[in-house]
Amino acid sequence: MRLEYELEIRDLACSILPQGIGMDIGNGWLDIARDAVIGLVVASHGRVKVEKFGEKWGLLDIRPGVRGLDDDVIHTVYEITGQARSRSADICELCGRPGEIRRAGWHRVRCDDCEAEHVRRRQFETGNHQAIDEAVGYYVRVCLEHGRLFPVANIVMEAWPDDTDRRFFLDEVNDVVGWWRAGMQHRHLDEDLREEFRRLRFR
Ligand SMILES: [Zn+2]
Repeated sequence: MRLEYELEIRDLACSILPQGIGMDIGNGWLDIARDAVIGLVVASHGRVKVEKFGEKWGLLDIRPGVRGLDDDVIHTVYEITGQARSRSADICELCGRPGEIRRAGWHRVRCDDCEAEHVRRRQFETGNHQAIDEAVGYYVRVCLEHGRLFPVANIVMEAWPDDTDRRFFLDEVNDVVGWWRAGMQHRHLDEDLREEFRRLRFR
């Protein structure tokens, strides 16, 4: 997910979505994620703790920690996460257009166009690990140097022969930046840079 979208959701979520919980979803589910997070904050008065925010069996999987909450609040919380899951079954995770669940290989919700690119996207990601990792390291260091965040596309200038590869590249760099920000290790980035990076915002 684009870092701009992720931070928008994290700002709405306040304390219910800990920084160490990664948001492992595509851009297409932004609206669903935003609605779910707002609903959870309101229903629990900010007391639910999200323990997982990602995809499972192809659908949006938000796992809420409900310890200490009243039964009726817990009921509402599960209603909200259930609604988010069922909405995600019809929305392409990558682009947000109407989609359906695809069961070839691992399960995923895709529109016809994104599904048609599926194999090429996977091959691109596995074949360009090094360039992606280097771009992630470069992006984070530029942001830290300037004390602010920039759209990944403005910083990572890698030239790709065509627009499709460029789109795959930017999606993957955004995802890896988000994973590192949440706590995953990265071979080009020290762990002690993470806290400072988490404080940076877009202007
Ligand atoms: Zn799509």
